[in-house]
Amino acid sequence: MNINKKQTYIALGLTACTLLQAQETKRPNIIYVFPDQFRNHAMQFWNEAGFREHVNFKADPVHTPVLSRFAKESVVLTSAHSNCPLSSPHRGMMLTGMYPDGSGVPLNCNNTRPISNLREDAVTISDVLSQNGYDCAYIGKLHLDYPTKNNPQNPGTYVEKRNPVWDAYTPPERRHGFNYWYSYGTFDEHKKPHYWDTDGNRHEIREWSPKHEADKAIEYLTKDRDPQKPFYLVVSMNPPHSPYYSLEDVMEEDYNLYKDIPLNELLIRPNVRADLAKKQKSAPYYFASVTGVDREFGRILDKVKELGLDDNTIVVFTSDHGETMASQLEDPKNSPYTESMNVPFLIRYPGKLKPQVNDVLLGTPDIMPTLLSLAGLEKEIPASVQGQSLTPFLKAASCKRDAPKGVLYIRNVDGEKDAAGKVQSYFPIARGIKTHRYTMAITIDKEKQLKEILLFDDKKDPYQMQPLDADKNKNIFKQLTKEMAKLLKKADDPWYREKVLPAIISYDN
Ligand code: CA
Repeated sequence: MNINKKQTYIALGLTACTLLQAQETKRPNIIYVFPDQFRNHAMQFWNEAGFREHVNFKADPVHTPVLSRFAKESVVLTSAHSNCPLSSPHRGMMLTGMYPDGSGVPLNCNNTRPISNLREDAVTISDVLSQNGYDCAYIGKLHLDYPTKNNPQNPGTYVEKRNPVWDAYTPPERRHGFNYWYSYGTFDEHKKPHYWDTDGNRHEIREWSPKHEADKAIEYLTKDRDPQKPFYLVVSMNPPHSPYYSLEDVMEEDYNLYKDIPLNELLIRPNVRADLAKKQKSAPYYFASVTGVDREFGRILDKVKELGLDDNTIVVFTSDHGETMASQLEDPKNSPYTESMNVPFLIRYPGKLKPQVNDVLLGTPDIMPTLLSLAGLEKEIPASVQGQSLTPFLKAASCKRDAPKGVLYIRNVDGEKDAAGKVQSYFPIARGIKTHRYTMAITIDKEKQLKEILLFDDKKDPYQMQPLDADKNKNIFKQLTKEMAKLLKKADDPWYREKVLPAIISYDN
């Protein structure tokens, strides 16, 4: 508190006791940092004592010293999963607490997909926080809008000439309570990023985007926010998302940490595929991006501390999905494999959340109700939210009652297209479930008949190299489909509404 404020309180005759109460009831600030495509495995603390006992994988050989310190102050989740491990669907779930069918974002947003666009009438976490007195700021990648010809610098045109158009400008009426804006749709030149500010001005930047975004976050914390209000600050960094193939993509100081290490010492997992040679070569750049993100996250944390905001600020570090990094499929995401779905999730709230490693299963729609509950706004969680607050499980590691038993896996593809090639519907091609023990995913063909079942025992086979035969493991498969059906019902998913594959999925329990 500054001197003037203190004098005002004294002049008003407030006692020390009421002052303390006023401080105690002040809502916590929330800082939510989520780089894109950041593997849970790419944090060095998973190899350190106190952490390695909790997971059955080896950490990648990365330098993430900031996250190591932060982890010791946080609740660190082993089992946070991105339900639909793809950029736009994840972001829609994260902001609305709804699964992709409800958020309006079932597919990655581009101008061929008018059906994938964050619903204007959806109530987002930023809407709720804004209505409850928060200053709300969004910095970085959004990727939640159907691009239209609304370029503020050149009205009547798209913001980029690429076809299809991916990048987008988000006008004020689509910002869902965020009153401070410094964002873009999606754009992958990490050292030539651009942003539109609150007033729609475009800024062309010539430095590594996470560095610039940390600078903007620090500016926001220092001078741009309303100091009378609690704040909700989202920092959405693009790296370690691809491209990750040259010094155009990363900071040289970070690349130097990895450039002389043989690939087989960087890619230490048994499931790395020899035939994915190009992907393997990206490893030193990917890990360099991870280290750079770690440093920039640290700069934000340092500023929070310097400003004395530590105690009353919830800080989350997570990602929108993982990165298989030369294992499983060539596609780094959008698959049910652990390395695609499992994301970092570290949450620090001094005095309120005891630092611990915690195995509660977190799905993306749980994030909004959990944060609102931690901020004392449990009663403000909209009825539209399909996730659940995990606060009771974050507060007590041993509290297992009612803990989630599984996390839904969702994969959608384009459905029908009109004459102009615009996607008019989406097709729910795969659904599955991830539990503490198993990963299961069912894929259907265009006639909605069974195409493939993928089943893994993640305890015995953490790198998912030995798929189980569902026919030979009938009881396991039956139990998993039963749990999945419950989640499909809760999500009001198209598979539940249409009773897809009724012969193998029982929807009536
Ligand atoms: Ca992404």
